[in-house]
Amino acid sequence: MRTIRTGRAIRAWALERRESGQKIGYVPTMGALHAGHASLIRAAKRATDAVAVSIFVNPLQFGPREDLNQYPRPVVEDLRFCRQEDVEVVFLPHVREIYPGNFQTRVRVTKLTERYEGQSRPGHFEGVTTVLTKLFHLVGPDRAFFGQKDYQQAVVVKQMVRDLDVPVEIVVGPTVRERDGLALSSRNRFLSSPERKAAGALFAALTAARGMLRTGERSVKKVLDTMIRRVRDEPLARLEYAAVADPATLDEVRVVKGRVVLLLAVWIGKTRLIDNMVIACP
Ligand code: AMP
Repeated sequence: MRTIRTGRAIRAWALERRESGQKIGYVPTMGALHAGHASLIRAAKRATDAVAVSIFVNPLQFGPREDLNQYPRPVVEDLRFCRQEDVEVVFLPHVREIYPGNFQTRVRVTKLTERYEGQSRPGHFEGVTTVLTKLFHLVGPDRAFFGQKDYQQAVVVKQMVRDLDVPVEIVVGPTVRERDGLALSSRNRFLSSPERKAAGALFAALTAARGMLRTGERSVKKVLDTMIRRVRDEPLARLEYAAVADPATLDEVRVVKGRVVLLLAVWIGKTRLIDNMVIACP
């Protein structure tokens, strides 16, 4: 496994791979790697010939009051993790490599970023799409792999790629969960033991809503009320938003028909967690 730190070197690696006729798979991450990331790496390995993983805690996607400085950076463990997953290249750039002093460009997807995560975290998606534009240019992957865990992010990235004709196929892998349903996240390590139990409220709220939809409930209000109540029942949890939306446009739906996505953001103590579930309603 090679660890590459400069844009020049990752471009050179990618060029060499492409020239020998190989398809490049790419998994962008912020590190603190877990089984959710591993599932994307494995999907990339199955679908392409040479896999690059980037580990970059992107300052541009954190708000001024967010946890950029606290975000975990276990680099040694992450490199070991990638070696075990038999990744060919880890791209580990320094912040200055991605954002040199005079950096002044932003890439922004408009409508899709106005609600949910975009509303709660102003500037977040602009940070995500800006860094990904840059990373896609450097790595030049044939396919890039994202988790459903960050549902809105995946939709926004697909839109950006379509709008800007970025020559990459976006593949979305399923959310990997703990035994009790909690979606794996680099932020779960911040949860104390009572908070970890309380975090089960997210999956519980989603499964309660799914149960209602599967048994024929079509009132968005009733489904939302159930999700909200389930989170409010947990004293350590504070709801930020809950929504029933169209899986493609992310518009909130008035009447449930066909496929919907349930979206949820919840604070557990000082840790902000998100989760979602796509449900096909008969
Ligand atoms: P992050 O390091 O949190 O920026 O995540 C990097 C990629 O891993 C993103 O595409 C995430 O959606 C994906 N990811 C994070 N957690 C999970 C999970 N539990 N299951 C599947 N994919 C995930």
